[in-house]
Amino acid sequence: MNTVDNINFAGKKALVRVDFNVPLDKKTLQITDDARIRATIPTLKKILNDGGACILMSHLGRPLKKLKDDGTVDFEKHTLKNTLAKVSELLGVEVKFAPDCIGADATKMAAELKSGEVLLLENLRYYKEEEKGDEAFAEKLAKLGDVYVNDAFGTAHRAHASTAVIAKFFPNAKCFGYVMAREIANADKVIKHADRPFTAITGGAKVSDKLLILENLIDKVDNLIIGGGMAYTFLKAQGFEIGSSLCEDDRLDLCLELIKKAEAKGVKLLLPEDSIVADAFSNEANYKPCNNQLIEKGWMGLDIGPKAAAHFAEVIKASKTILWNGPMGVFEMTHFENGTKTAAVAVAEATKNGAFSLIGGGDSAAAVAQFGFEDQVSYISTGGGALLEYFEGKTLPGIAAIGL
Ligand code: AMP
Repeated sequence: MNTVDNINFAGKKALVRVDFNVPLDKKTLQITDDARIRATIPTLKKILNDGGACILMSHLGRPLKKLKDDGTVDFEKHTLKNTLAKVSELLGVEVKFAPDCIGADATKMAAELKSGEVLLLENLRYYKEEEKGDEAFAEKLAKLGDVYVNDAFGTAHRAHASTAVIAKFFPNAKCFGYVMAREIANADKVIKHADRPFTAITGGAKVSDKLLILENLIDKVDNLIIGGGMAYTFLKAQGFEIGSSLCEDDRLDLCLELIKKAEAKGVKLLLPEDSIVADAFSNEANYKPCNNQLIEKGWMGLDIGPKAAAHFAEVIKASKTILWNGPMGVFEMTHFENGTKTAAVAVAEATKNGAFSLIGGGDSAAAVAQFGFEDQVSYISTGGGALLEYFEGKTLPGIAAIGL
């Protein structure tokens, strides 16, 4: 793969697209989770250790979309200055800050940057041209550096100016940072080189969000576990009574098609045989286990039941490759966390026995962290939407722009 390891940065200015889109405390604007900054430090250190300089560009939030009540941009909340102290601390270098990502100041500061120094540019998304993938804007950014490095996997599925378009101005001086390289390598381990049996665990609320990935996975996996709220659309499609469980009635036919497709390909599609049902969407609601053949009116499935959890765990434990995307139930509420917890325990056990397990961002990563299994899985992706699109079989613009 074309990574920073292939380039000697001595005397060069690396223009690095990082993902410093970190969560901030609403009141203090302090960073509440610095994982994304931490992740990219080895890439930056490699450039600095070579004798290069780093010019960092990132977005933070959606400044032009999330306006203040008076209709103006909330600069205080969206300035990348909010990340400056943390970047300096983690890097062990006093990072300079350019108050605009293009223009005279940025140009001057970039030009004066010396070997071993780091400059952080202001939020790229203060310009609508960034998300539009505007070529002239990308060219202005490109002029600031000698080599383009993309280390922002979280935005790799976007053809933005700084994530994809800019690469054309560096035909012979572009590469991936370590975060990107690691994400791609781990995703490929699952999607291209899986040891068998390969089990995908899918869940979460909405089938419509996951249909594409389910379709693509059916061509690759041995077992496809479907839990969480989205299982009920599949159950209803098969004629079950699902009470007031989540259901997307306009997707019933597609669910049936998927079931047939799995059958035709010899893929085991596993749906839960029972649920924990509740009489309201609340941790305080009445709840009980219930066979999925018949969920009474007024009750909704908020977790897979004990039989399904045990069955799923058995399949997971016998797997050699595991991809997990989406919780088995409403794991945020203690009465409905058991299905997700049982799956997490099984994934950890399989991993201990030599399986490769990849946890795909968002809620699944949150669940694994909540139950304390972060260190007992093979890899937790930082990618969310980008990872999902990769598994849907799409070419991600951020990857294509550099080339593998
Ligand atoms: P998604 O964003 O589609 O991956 O959905 C994640 C959310 O699905 C989590 O916040 C879960 O609480 C929720 N969820 C999982 N199972 C259920 C269920 N049976 N009913 C309602 N919500 C669910």
